[in-house]
Amino acid sequence: MRPLLLTHCGAGSDASVQDAAEIAGMRGMEVLNRGGRALDAVVEAIVVLEDDPRLNAGTGSRMRVDGRIQMDAALMAANLEAGCVAAIEGVKNPIRVARDVFATPHVLLVGDDATAFARSKGHAVFDPATPESRRRLQESLAKIREGKLPRYARKWKTVDLHGTVGAVARDRRGRFAAGSSTGGTAFMLPGRVGDSPIVGAGLYAGPKAAVTVTGIGEEIMKRVLSKFVYDRIAEGRPPQAAANRGLSLFPEDVSIGIIAVSAGGWGEASNRDMAFFASSPRRTF
Ligand code: ASP
Repeated sequence: MRPLLLTHCGAGSDASVQDAAEIAGMRGMEVLNRGGRALDAVVEAIVVLEDDPRLNAGTGSRMRVDGRIQMDAALMAANLEAGCVAAIEGVKNPIRVARDVFATPHVLLVGDDATAFARSKGHAVFDPATPESRRRLQESLAKIREGKLPRYARKWKTVDLHGTVGAVARDRRGRFAAGSSTGGTAFMLPGRVGDSPIVGAGLYAGPKAAVTVTGIGEEIMKRVLSKFVYDRIAEGRPPQAAANRGLSLFPEDVSIGIIAVSAGGWGEASNRDMAFFASSPRRTF
């Protein structure tokens, strides 16, 4: 089967980071073109995105209101194996830690224990903060002070600062994998975990497809979006139609982005700008 890979730079990411989606996509395609596994292609693509300080994952992740950076990342393969980390701190590539969790009997490790697990696997101490992430925190704190808080009552709906990254792939043997990595959203309490490391919400892979999504995590979790899109593909819908159905679950003021790949093609749907890359220009084949 022809290998296929998609990457995205998050709901709300504009054309200025299009190069990141492409470079990451090409890195993943190198893995697939030499016969590598979809899972490894997704990891390598996401590492490129995490290392780009312009994107809200790995280096350059958003800070919590207390100035800490807590990151989430996840991987899932077509055999339903998954590895995820949530609220991990002080590592360069959360997706590589998720890959290490994937090799354990568990699916999700969180917080300090996820960080300790990363150290036990040789992930060195790394500070993902950048001048930009510090600037954004000051901006958020100023909004809080001025009372422009996106009142928790409004449940983030007006907050449009995202930048999660993700990738989905199909390898030559027709195996699927999905991955995601994020620093979260703006205005986050310490300990907050969104959809990105949650199987079924932020990502899903199975024998029929791989799906990963971005946007307001609280809204995504409540609709179990990735599994919803996967199920539509498993029912026989083309991935583009399935992604469109997924997007239609949300009101316009909730930012959402979806990428999906199946045996028959790929789909992408978003209600905001979203820099993304697809290794084939055709959506169905
Ligand atoms: N879904 C991510 C979260 O809520 C944010 C994003 O996709 O930009 O943590």
